[in-house]
Amino acid sequence: MTDRAEDIAERKMRFLYALRSKGVTDGRVLTAMERVDRGAFVRGLFAERAYEDTPLPIACGQTISQPSIVGLMTQALAIAPRDRVLEVGTGSGYQAAVLAGLARRVYTIDRHRRLVREAEETFRTLGLSNITAFTGDGSHGLPDQAPFDRILVTAAAEDPPGPLLAQLKVDGIMVVPVGQTDAVQTLVKVVRTEAGFEYEELRSVRFVPLVEGLAAD
Ligand code: SAH
Repeated sequence: MTDRAEDIAERKMRFLYALRSKGVTDGRVLTAMERVDRGAFVRGLFAERAYEDTPLPIACGQTISQPSIVGLMTQALAIAPRDRVLEVGTGSGYQAAVLAGLARRVYTIDRHRRLVREAEETFRTLGLSNITAFTGDGSHGLPDQAPFDRILVTAAAEDPPGPLLAQLKVDGIMVVPVGQTDAVQTLVKVVRTEAGFEYEELRSVRFVPLVEGLAAD
C-alpha cells in the first residue's frame, strides 16, 4: 500500500474502533458510518480533525455532532430498510447521510438556509439521492410528508415537540435530546404505541438548542 492508502486505512480503523468502544455495536450502523466520509461535511480550519470522535464547529455558529453520538442515536432508532425518516437539524448533513444509508428516504430540515444549501451540495457530490432537504422551522415537522417511521431531533428541546409526536406512526420511534440550553440534556427515546407514548432515557448529551422560527441566513 502507498503511505497515503495506509493513512486512510488506519484512520478508518481508529474511527470505527472509537465508535465500538463507545457502544456503537450494531453492524448495520457501523457499516453505514464506514461508508460516509465525515471529511466531506467539515469545511475550512477543522477539516483535518474530521476523523476524530469530537464535535466540530460548522457555519452559522452550529456544530457537527460527535460521531459516537451520531452512531448511538442512529442505533437507538433501529431503522428498517423501508423506513421514511425525518431529521430535524440538518447542520452539516452528516447525520442525514448516515441515516440515508439505512432508510428508504430521509427528510431533513434546518432553520438556516445556508446550512441546507451546503448540505445539499455535499449530498450531490457524494451521490446521495434519497435525501430531501428543507429550510424551515423543524419543530413543526413536515406535515406534507408525515407520518414518519422514525424521527431524529439533533437539537435540544425543552420537551419532545407535540407536532413531531403527532407525525410519528404507531410503532414509530423518535429520538430527541431533552433539556435546557447550556445544561446537561438527556437523550430520550419515544416509542408510539396504540395506547400512547412510551419514554426511555438513554444517556446525557449536549446539543445546541432547538430555536423557533427561520434564521436570517
Ligand atoms: N445533525 C447535524 C448537527 C445538528 S446541529 C449534523 O449532522 O451535522 C443542530 C442543528 O439544528 C443546527 O444546524 C440548527 O440550525 C438546527 N436547528 C435548531 N433549531 C431548529 C429548528 N427549530 N428547526 C430546524 N432546525 C433547527
